[in-house]
Amino acid sequence: MNCKSCQNSLPDLLLDPAARSIAAAREHLAACSACNEEFRSLKATFDLLDAWKAPEPTPYFDQKLAVRLREEQAAQPAGWFERMRARLLFNTGRQFRPALACALALAVIVGGGTAIDLSVTQPGSHVQAAVTVNDLQILDKNEQAIQTMDQLLQDDSAKDTATPQPAS
Ligand SMILES: [Zn+2]
Repeated sequence: MNCKSCQNSLPDLLLDPAARSIAAAREHLAACSACNEEFRSLKATFDLLDAWKAPEPTPYFDQKLAVRLREEQAAQPAGWFERMRARLLFNTGRQFRPALACALALAVIVGGGTAIDLSVTQPGSHVQAAVTVNDLQILDKNEQAIQTMDQLLQDDSAKDTATPQPAS
């Protein structure tokens, strides 16, 4: 057993000490001081987690939450558009970054896919020209998307520096 597979089975050593699959890991631990150190630090972390007690909610937490929920449901704007608008107005933009990145990646993939598809199914010089034009249009669109994203990120970072928020 090498260090990597030993360290992979460290959680098993802690959580399921009776498992037969960890015998080799145990042997390795006895011989390897680095893995032994890793094991002890992981065990200390687990002990800490065992000692940690989640804070109890206040006695009226459930009632208060139910009241808040009912208020929110009553105040919820009916339309999807209003909800999206509220979300766009009040968010910091962070949760949209992955979505933007995905959309951009998808645009590139779909763009590349159509170009390949066209050139394979309809060979010919005029089609090649059309593909090139198509590619250029896609490139242009992608550039616009990147610019928009840059702008969004810049706006966001400007906001972030203006009103520092606690890291989440
Ligand atoms: Zn080792």
